[in-house]
Amino acid sequence: MSDLRDDQWFTEVFDSHGSAFSLKVTEKLLDVQSPYQHLEVYATETYGHLMVLDGCVMLTDRDNFLYHEMIAHPALFTHQDPKRVVIIGGGDCGTLKEVLRHPGVEKVTQIDIDEEVTKAAERFFPSLVEANGDPRAELLFADGVKWVDDAADESIDVLIIDSTDPVGPAEGLFKTDFLKRCHRILKSGGVMVQQSESPLYHSGSIIRELRNDMREAGFDSVATLPFPQPVYPSGWWSVTLAGKATSVESFREEAAADHEMPLQYYTVDAHRGALALPPFMRKAFA
Ligand code: SAM
Repeated sequence: MSDLRDDQWFTEVFDSHGSAFSLKVTEKLLDVQSPYQHLEVYATETYGHLMVLDGCVMLTDRDNFLYHEMIAHPALFTHQDPKRVVIIGGGDCGTLKEVLRHPGVEKVTQIDIDEEVTKAAERFFPSLVEANGDPRAELLFADGVKWVDDAADESIDVLIIDSTDPVGPAEGLFKTDFLKRCHRILKSGGVMVQQSESPLYHSGSIIRELRNDMREAGFDSVATLPFPQPVYPSGWWSVTLAGKATSVESFREEAAADHEMPLQYYTVDAHRGALALPPFMRKAFA
């Protein structure tokens, strides 16, 4: 639920958690009803541009680096030699940009259901789409569930599920059947990562269920990494990694320390720290 109040605050209300998040906005720049979702873009006073899907904050100029670096780099530095990467969702192209920073990656396919999201990113978030011309990048607009269904067995090194919340078009991306198909298309040693909601609000529900479902789908190792994300419910978010015949609880620390990427959040220490779960999360997952 969201509204633009008379005093020009955009507010997303998290009804089930009795909380809300507001940003002072100066202008509504876009309002589109696509076949899949309601897409809005606002100019804010202090967070740059803001993208909203179905009333839920997706990203802002100011803090999207946190999410995009943490959904991409832990998975890529966990895999031993990632060459073939697939992103399901991620239509704003911020995750794609982070993946393309890895010189060893040979091909990245992004499959978002909604082309309007990418068009909005091209218009209002130019820094996110600046790597889209990279010859290693392929942008498709289709249902990620169907794409995974049709993909060849053992053909992918890293699979990134950068989706909206598990309702509407993204519901199927959180089901055990989908995770089983993800497992099928990953090569041995492959790593999957999925955005997994708020550690504070969802450790005992969505995250716990996703972790159990990943194990049920055949993954040998699962790790949930929390990180700050001021504009999402509770201001704190998570990604959950799963490994096929590989551990996701360790990573290529030397490579993660030696790279020359201009990152703003991800470091070896941030990765190690995120793997060291707080006791309340460990308890929720036990
Ligand atoms: N960072 C965001 C978050 O955690 O809230 C996610 C950003 S990204 C914009 C989410 C994308 O997932 C949207 O562009 C949406 O169109 C896409 N999406 C949702 N369901 C999908 C599906 N079944 N297949 C492919 N893309 C999907």
